[in-house]
Amino acid sequence: MTTHKGACFCGIVQIQVVGKPEAMGYCHCASCRSWSAGPVNAFSLWKPDAVRVVSGAENIATFRKTDKSERQYCSKCGGHLMTNHPPFGLIDVYAATIPTLKFTPGVHVNYAETVLPMRDGLPKLKDFPAELGGSGEQMRE
Ligand SMILES: [Zn+2]
Ligand SMILES: [Zn+2]
Repeated sequence: MTTHKGACFCGIVQIQVVGKPEAMGYCHCASCRSWSAGPVNAFSLWKPDAVRVVSGAENIATFRKTDKSERQYCSKCGGHLMTNHPPFGLIDVYAATIPTLKFTPGVHVNYAETVLPMRDGLPKLKDFPAELGGSGEQMRE
């Protein structure tokens, strides 16, 4: 199985993902913007058993603004690693954290909140897919 390695900004926390992500895409929500300090979050979603912390686990800090998202980052450098989404049973390992993963986005979520419209022909969901408790409603580009 394919393995991709990732690390925080300083490198003390090393992670690995194994196999293929369940989904990839862009999230345009205000929370992702505020947390990432970027206009969109490029996500890759993994089953928890596909994600391993190889070293530096004691440096991982977690911030929970809501019980939907446990945002994990390095307490030494502040570099972001991943967000665990317990209600979905999925972990978002930010695409930027695992550079060897070929990022092939399939969907945009929370597009109603976008500040960076992207005309790439991919589906634009107003919020989340229906399977994940959203409306599943699509928007125009
Ligand atoms: Zn670090
Ligand atoms: Zn988001």
